[in-house]
Amino acid sequence: MVETRCPLCKNSDCRIERELYDDRYGFKGSFRLAKCLKCGHRHLQGEFTPELISRLYSEYYPRSAFKLEEHKPFIEAKGFFAWLKGKNSSAFRWVPKNVRVLDIGCGFGETLGYHKARGCDVYGVEADRNILRVAERFGYKVHAGLFEPDIYEPASFDYVTMDQVLEHTIDPVVALMGVRKVLKEGGVAVLSMPNPDGWGARVFGKRWINWHVPYHIQHFSFESMKILAEKADFKIEKTCTITDSSWLWLQWLHLLTYPKEGEPSEFWASNGRITSGKRKIARVITLFHLTGADHLFTRFFDFLNIGDNYIFVLKKI
Ligand SMILES: [Zn+2]
Repeated sequence: MVETRCPLCKNSDCRIERELYDDRYGFKGSFRLAKCLKCGHRHLQGEFTPELISRLYSEYYPRSAFKLEEHKPFIEAKGFFAWLKGKNSSAFRWVPKNVRVLDIGCGFGETLGYHKARGCDVYGVEADRNILRVAERFGYKVHAGLFEPDIYEPASFDYVTMDQVLEHTIDPVVALMGVRKVLKEGGVAVLSMPNPDGWGARVFGKRWINWHVPYHIQHFSFESMKILAEKADFKIEKTCTITDSSWLWLQWLHLLTYPKEGEPSEFWASNGRITSGKRKIARVITLFHLTGADHLFTRFFDFLNIGDNYIFVLKKI
């Protein structure tokens, strides 16, 4: 049976806000995005069984071809240009030096090298098994698979980060309770995720890049994050929007190459290599990005706290 209640506040008064389809990789079918009339949380209706999720990610979600020799850890970002690009839009940037940190959804380990260089005792979790080759080569401590709190010593981490992860989860309450379990008393969870109430979702409507169905299942409002924090016993220390300026560049390219239902987007499905007649317009979009205009727009909307990306800093109580 399809769950129609709000996954956060359990209110059954949810309204179908949009009918959406996979506008990146062409997974067939349309999906209903329901908005809770009480807490503003949005969730994608449907039965997301482990089988479906595994099919989605293995058959439809191409990770960029990964070359071990090209692995580069993120480096310290400082100064005006780092700010202009939106450097604190990523949760890992909020972690101080010399702490014990777990990064859930660590990609190809760029954050692990970053934390290691800053004196942290760092662990990673990543669903893509390619991470194991990186881990072996660079000596990173990584669990390949989904986050399983029980494999770590309870209350042993100072920080846990989840960059663009929580919106993919079937049950964000269970996920955050797992995070709580591994955090020390007073430990901090830093989360980043798309903001469905920001200017981007309002202006671009169904073509907003971050609906990203059926991969993004949960879309938080400030209110539903409050409920999540309460349920998992966290106190919200900070809430704001800080957005990577390149998201706006991606948004223009997304509009340019918007596909029909059931068809993959020539931009996303080719890892950004547009070969059709739209290539010239794509170049203009990129030149526009290089002028810094996307950056200024992005900083302006973040200043108003209506940017496309949330940062939530939660403290275990
Ligand atoms: Zn709700």
